[in-house]
Amino acid sequence: MENYKDGFKRFLEIQEEMKNIGDAQGVLYWDMVTIMPSKGVERRSDVIGYLSQLMYKLETSDEYNNLVYSLYEHYEEMDDKEKAMVKAAKKSLDFMKKIPEEEYLEYSKLVASGENYWAKARENNDYESFKPILEKIVFFNKKIADYMGYEDTPYDALLDLYEPGATVKEIDGVFQELREGLLKLLDKINASDVKIDSSILKGEYEIEPQKKYNTELAKRLGYDFERGAIAESAHPFSTNFGNNDVRITTAYSKEDPIVAMYSTIHETGHAIYEQNIPDDITKTNIGGGVSMGIHESQSRYYENILARDREFIETEYPNMIKAFDGLKKYSPFEIYQAINKVEPSLIRIDADELTYSMHIIIRYELEKMMINGEVDFDELPKLWADKYTEYLGITPDSYAKGVLQDVHWSGGMIGYFPSYALGNLYGAQMLYKGILRDLPNYYELIREGKVSEITKWLAENVHSHGGTYEPKVLIEKITGEPLDAKYFLQYLNEKYSRIYDFK
Ligand code: ZN
Repeated sequence: MENYKDGFKRFLEIQEEMKNIGDAQGVLYWDMVTIMPSKGVERRSDVIGYLSQLMYKLETSDEYNNLVYSLYEHYEEMDDKEKAMVKAAKKSLDFMKKIPEEEYLEYSKLVASGENYWAKARENNDYESFKPILEKIVFFNKKIADYMGYEDTPYDALLDLYEPGATVKEIDGVFQELREGLLKLLDKINASDVKIDSSILKGEYEIEPQKKYNTELAKRLGYDFERGAIAESAHPFSTNFGNNDVRITTAYSKEDPIVAMYSTIHETGHAIYEQNIPDDITKTNIGGGVSMGIHESQSRYYENILARDREFIETEYPNMIKAFDGLKKYSPFEIYQAINKVEPSLIRIDADELTYSMHIIIRYELEKMMINGEVDFDELPKLWADKYTEYLGITPDSYAKGVLQDVHWSGGMIGYFPSYALGNLYGAQMLYKGILRDLPNYYELIREGKVSEITKWLAENVHSHGGTYEPKVLIEKITGEPLDAKYFLQYLNEKYSRIYDFK
């Protein structure tokens, strides 16, 4: 290729075709988990599977392969967005080339059925039945790491699949600081005289008013309903078909309206990110959030840093008590405290904002050990339980509340968990070294209900780049320095010292 521009045009056309197939799959999936009747599942799986085949054919076609690799030769002549698109396309092709097709097919089948085995094992509290599946999944992931290649340790190759450019060396460093800081904070909270009753949030609340409240709340945060919609599903998630159709689901509970409220806010954070992807990249492979970690930084910023903030809850209070009558017996501060109660617990998804990261650190440490071949799988539940005892002072009394609680490993997702904690760290660093720097009237904006001004800042500084910059580059671009756990710890310290009254 003399001049890469013509080739690039064709590359974009094929990218768009791939997006077309991906969007169609996404709509079918959305429909499947929201309103599809249960007997439709077999036919639906066939159709989604057929579209996967089409996608595979397109991506492995000679034309596309030749294009990507010859465009890559012009990498240095490209602008940042073009570079990112070609790099991501090449990475995906490299992945398919490096892993022998037969092995990959075998692995795909294994992880496709993994969730079923896991769900049954969890239901019956039966680790033994899941153990051989998990061993196989870990074995394959080791192989994938070897095929992909790595500099220091095989886990690096897996991390790179979810958080491009992240390494064990860096994460070990930040997580160690994080773990030590969290342990100190937990000690102070345990020693505090302040006792918080979070049961005040529970009661009996009809679903309809919750729906209305959640919709209005999402709007106030900056979610655009002309390009979005909220439905219900058992496990809340967000999905999008381009930047003009970005949807979320939530799950309501009659006993506890706060659960749906924060789940909606979390998914709204993901969705706002996708709604703010610029038009010129939405139909390409960088037309979305750059990594799982940066995505979580956005959802967790809205859910925790913003919406569990005292000023936010005080501002939101009149709306909350209007929707949820039973809460009006309590002051905004009591509700603020109840929403921020810290209590070590066994289940990650129910964890409070402070102990949550500890659940992730435990999984990260165990995953590294498994991938390094340092785990006897008979001993894994005990290793898990020992870490909970050591870090959180509690011990699971069943497999279901211990090693079997999360779906991730059954789907082959090893290397994914760190993203959640990284999201917390990125978010706090963005707050101190970006948002507060550029918006000195930050708390005023919250008090005046002008959260959309903060959303505008995130759109400009984070969302507008889509997948152009790797997380590492992006966080430096925004905050002027590499990722550092100290900001998240500073944030937690400032917050919880006020709630639990310690120095
Ligand atoms: Zn999320």
